[in-house]
Formats: sequence, C-alpha cells, structure tokens
Amino acid sequence: MKCRKCGAAAAIELRRHNAAFCAPDFQEFFRNQVREAIRKYRMFTTEERVLVAVSGGKDSLALWDVLIDEGYTTTGLYLDLGIFDYSVESKAKCEAFAARRSVPLIITAVADEVGAPVPEIKAATRRPACSGCGLSKRYLMNRVALDHGIPVVATGHNLDDEAATLFGSVMHWQTEALPRQSPALASTHPRLVRRVKPLYRLSERETAAFAFMRKIDYIVEECPFAVGATSIAHKQVLDRLEHDSPGAKHNFLFGFLEKARAAFERVDGVELHECARCGQVTTSTVCAFCKLSDQVKRARA
Ligand code: AMP
Ligand code: ZN
Repeated sequence: MKCRKCGAAAAIELRRHNAAFCAPDFQEFFRNQVREAIRKYRMFTTEERVLVAVSGGKDSLALWDVLIDEGYTTTGLYLDLGIFDYSVESKAKCEAFAARRSVPLIITAVADEVGAPVPEIKAATRRPACSGCGLSKRYLMNRVALDHGIPVVATGHNLDDEAATLFGSVMHWQTEALPRQSPALASTHPRLVRRVKPLYRLSERETAAFAFMRKIDYIVEECPFAVGATSIAHKQVLDRLEHDSPGAKHNFLFGFLEKARAAFERVDGVELHECARCGQVTTSTVCAFCKLSDQVKRARA
C-alpha cells in the first residue's frame, strides 16, 4: 500500500476515505480535518483563549497537541473524578503532557466541588456513576471557563463518540437531545460558554494513530465505571456496520448534521434562569449540580 500524497510506503489505511498515508502525511491529514472542523463551525480564533478539557486519554491529548501547534492560546482543564487508580493515572498523564509542552493546566477535584468523589456520588444517588459524573463534568467545565474568562471549551469527542451518542438518542427518540448534538454549541446565555468538538471528523482509530505517531503518553485503560455502558454497546453495533461498509458512521453523523438536525431545533426555546444558589444557568430554580451536591451531603451526614 502506498501513501496517497507522496507514494512512499503507507503507515495507515483509511478505508472510509479510500486512502492510505505515510506517517507524516497522515499527521497533515489529521491536522487538516481539525482545521476544517474549526473553520466550518467557526469554533474559535487565535485571538481567543480556549479551555481544552483533557481526560488523559488519546483524544483530548491529541486535540490539545494539535491546537498548540496550530498557534491557539490554550489552557488545559483536568477534572479529578476521584475514581481510584484510574484518576490518579490519568491526572499524571495530563500533568506530564502540560509540563512537556509548557502549557498551563487547571486541575479541579469533583470531591471539592460536589462534596464527594464519583464513586461516592454513585452510592449516594443510587444512579449509574456516569450520570452524576457527566453532570458534574459539564457543569464544572462551564464554571471553570467562566471563572477564568475563557469563552469556549473544547472536548476530545471524536466521530465514534458522536455517532454512538446520535445512535443512542435516535434509538430512544430523545428528540430534545437531538438539537444539542452538534460539533459546536453557541452560547445562549451570558453565563454559558461555547462548547466545541474539533475532532468530530476523526475516528477513534485515527486519534489513536495520531497520538502514537506524536509519541503522546496517554492512559489506555477505560474508566472502570464505563464497563457495560450502553454507549459501548452502541459503539460495537456501529463498528460492525463500519466494518462491512466503510463510511457508515461518517454518513450517519454527517447526514444528520446536514439534513436532519435543524428539523429538531425548538423554535420556542427553553427559558434559562440563574440558579438561586450558585448563579449558574438552569431551567429550574436550583440547578441540577446544586441538587446533586445537597443529596451527596445528606447521604454523608
Ligand atoms: P468521555 O465522555 O470520557 O468519552 O470524554 C469525552 C471528552 O470529555 C474527552 O475527550 C475530554 O475532552 C472530556 N473529558 C472527559 N473526562 C474528563 C476529565 N476527567 N477532565 C476533563 N475533561 C474530561
Ligand atoms: Zn446551582
């Protein structure tokens, strides 16, 4: 197999693009896909600061790596979820990356903000760990960005993540979730920052290859609570489709974004208020995060 660009021996084949690349040309392809995502959705400019939410995994560290090299002013944010060794190790990966690239990293511990780490939140709420964890992550990403005057948060969600989330929403016809499924969410309130996903055009396999070629040291293990999650089952279904017809995930997600998403956008919109307790945006009086931390504190008492 030969590189589509230079004809040298290929290091990776991309069946859905009907192409193969040598390592340097693959990295250029990868960067071009990120540039195209940023351009198409006007995600951010070099004049703005970008808060990159990093988990210590391949996707978010690959994203941070590209954004630094593209000349963006970035700050990393690692949220310490307190999930045993998994959190200890993933935090160390983020710290090592930040030190190596001489970029600032903010570390916020969920336990300090909610009153307990994710395993204890799971016990206190008797709900799957991912529900309190996801809520806390979204809330804290936004609040840290606001606290630091940063207008936009970038996450490492890739094509596989986005296709699987869309699949899950469609499977259950969660029509209120569909308009929020986008590579870029605008700020709809002064206390909500923009949220963007510059890797949405790239697959998990591609981010892994990029991280490997760039010698990025990332945590390979999955979160122990993710085992058996429905999102993983959805990914497996899509992997099978992709295997049999390359481009299936891409067509599913991009077709939705181009042809269907707008149809689910609500004209009336939802009314946003500021939480009576913390001032963050909510659709009710007290936000879900404040309610969660109350519940955790009650369970502890
Ligand atoms: P996940 O939901 O674990 O697939 O993560 C999706 C994205 O959310 C990652 O690519 C990161 O950008 C962000 N993220 C996940 N976990 C953390 C964390 N502990 N701290 C900061 N950002 C995170
Ligand atoms: Zn609140």
